[in-house]
Amino acid sequence: MQPTMTNKSRPGFWSGLALWKKILVGMVLGVAAGAIMGPDAEMLKPIGTLFINAIKMLIVPLVFCSLVVGVTSMQDTRKMGRIGVKAVLLYLGTTAIAISIGLGLATVLTPGEGLNMVVTDAVAVGKEAPTLVQTLLNMIPKNPVGALAAGNILQIIVFALGLGIALTLSGEKAEPAIKLFESLAEAMYKLTELVMKLAPYGVFGLMAWVAGKYGMDILLPLIKVIAVVYLGCLIHVLVFYTGLISTLGRLNPVRYMKGLLNPAAVAFTTTSSSGSLPATIKASREEMGVSKSISSFVLPLGATINMDGTALYQGVCALFIAQAFGIDLTFSDYLLIIMTSTLASIGTAGVPGAGLIMLSLVLTTVGLPLEGLAIVAGIDRILDMARTSVNVCGDLMVSILVAKSENELDESVYNSSSSEMESQPESTTETQTARI
Ligand code: ASP
Repeated sequence: MQPTMTNKSRPGFWSGLALWKKILVGMVLGVAAGAIMGPDAEMLKPIGTLFINAIKMLIVPLVFCSLVVGVTSMQDTRKMGRIGVKAVLLYLGTTAIAISIGLGLATVLTPGEGLNMVVTDAVAVGKEAPTLVQTLLNMIPKNPVGALAAGNILQIIVFALGLGIALTLSGEKAEPAIKLFESLAEAMYKLTELVMKLAPYGVFGLMAWVAGKYGMDILLPLIKVIAVVYLGCLIHVLVFYTGLISTLGRLNPVRYMKGLLNPAAVAFTTTSSSGSLPATIKASREEMGVSKSISSFVLPLGATINMDGTALYQGVCALFIAQAFGIDLTFSDYLLIIMTSTLASIGTAGVPGAGLIMLSLVLTTVGLPLEGLAIVAGIDRILDMARTSVNVCGDLMVSILVAKSENELDESVYNSSSSEMESQPESTTETQTARI
């Protein structure tokens, strides 16, 4: 082997670039290559297929481990009893509404219509839609190992949730197993990180193929996807959250909107709910008047399991891909998407790009082609900015509602002008668990 030259190891332009920028470059170059090469660009497709296969490889172990860990990390929920139950119900309930908004908007605004892409993924063709009752009955795996081997996502989710609950209930004796799952989950996050390093190249290959085959017609639908996701996010926060604040909480929604500005701005720029946690906790305590005990329990829990923006995005993208490939989804497919995405949000880490991997899960569940994933991957960062902001606004909203219902909301702080609050000293952020 050649000895390495002792060049000062400054990262080169490419290796120093953030992953999302690389993906964007991959997308732009892919579109350009497709435009120049035309149908010949199909020869670049295998690079994309390699990436898609690597994602497929991740889905089962990643979802299984991260869901088990998601549930066991809720151990405190049991200790906190009523508060925990309220928070979890609000988190999951609002997530289901968010994905319904995403599905509704994408149905009406049809961002993927007219693309006429052709399914080359055998999984997606000739799929018989099961009835809803069948789907519900099939959710319980008769053989969990079989479910893992067959990649039956819904069954895997149900088993993982059950196992997580059982491990939590088993107390001390189950601790080694919990630790094992925690360390396996960490390894899977690492593997995901490694696979995502392939994303710029995979996106390049697939975009070249798509642009070569379908021409520049691909760009407008992508802009539409961005517009629909942003519109959905705005509706979810400005209509639904403020509606809950004024009806369930009987509080002034304008105050809530002022309070969310800081954490939402941090979320928008970092694209990480976990990384935004200090800002969310600060806003919740100092601007909204939520007690320390509620905010330091409900908000870290929310950063882990509450993903309304992510769910909304998954709804839009799933329908976009179905429309782009001309696949009709049945009513039970819609319910399946809502169910999968809501339950999967428990296992979605509050880190940049996690939602994209979970999208592959939703697509697999309803048999949609994963090629679609690489197409939206090019614009994922732009979508991540909006969805993470919504995730964080949802956490803040739930902390306010739970505090109010427990008489732990200082309404004089909530109602006071935010400019007074701005001059307050920094709060302690001992619960910060950022993992960006
Ligand atoms: N980035 C999001 C978050 O941290 C997760 C996602 O990718 O949707 O909340």
